[in-house]
Amino acid sequence: MLLQFKTLVQPGLVHAVTTRQGGVSAPPQATLNMSFSRPDDPAAVRENRRRVYAALEIDPARVVQAGQIHGADVLVVEQRYAGRGALDRPSVLPPADALITREPNLFLLAAFADCTPLLLFDPVQRAVGVAHAGWQGTVKGIGAATVQAMQRAFGSQPRNLVAVVGPAAGPCCYNVWPHVAEQIRAAFRAQPDLLRTRDGQTFFDLWAANTATLVACGVPRDQIEVSGICTIHHAERFFSHRASGGETGRFAAVIGMRE
Ligand SMILES: [Zn+2]
Repeated sequence: MLLQFKTLVQPGLVHAVTTRQGGVSAPPQATLNMSFSRPDDPAAVRENRRRVYAALEIDPARVVQAGQIHGADVLVVEQRYAGRGALDRPSVLPPADALITREPNLFLLAAFADCTPLLLFDPVQRAVGVAHAGWQGTVKGIGAATVQAMQRAFGSQPRNLVAVVGPAAGPCCYNVWPHVAEQIRAAFRAQPDLLRTRDGQTFFDLWAANTATLVACGVPRDQIEVSGICTIHHAERFFSHRASGGETGRFAAVIGMRE
């Protein structure tokens, strides 16, 4: 049900990426679909979320989620947002593909199926962030936007941040259309290796692109843990938009600090 990363096992820090096991949703969202925006029974999603919150020992009234639109906007989450989007769809916060907070006892949640979860923690200023980086967010530099927002809002120094690049479409499987490759090339001119051609198809390395973005804004490479799990390869373990042809659920990334 929960995958955790050694980089984020730190005092007072709560984090996880969920798998697709351990829930109650029926196919094609089977079983631990964490998203109310999928064509799933909301009662099933609520039960799935309750199980995850219970496993993490967090109060649903302290969880927040925003709308996700493949943008690069970052929202600073405040105490008054507690519970928004935690157990229903109507209360979800307005769109922001990255959430950051330094408030203890607030847990940030975002949902994924092949897009890259970025989880960030500043152990010095005690602040956290989560970002949703598909190819669009990656091209828009959402990782950098998140780090810069933490810097501005909390005084976080990028050199102090630790980060996880979570399970996502891997360079082994993630082929992209020519118009997408063109935008990637334009955004990452200095790193042509992020795109590789095999058998007439162009494959994009989302993991390396997001790692490069974080490194470019000052996060030390050895403080970034790349999970290296390809969701398309492991569609039995993680929801994969690509592997399912689009009909599937969403897994979640959660991060926050206990009081
Ligand atoms: Zn793969």
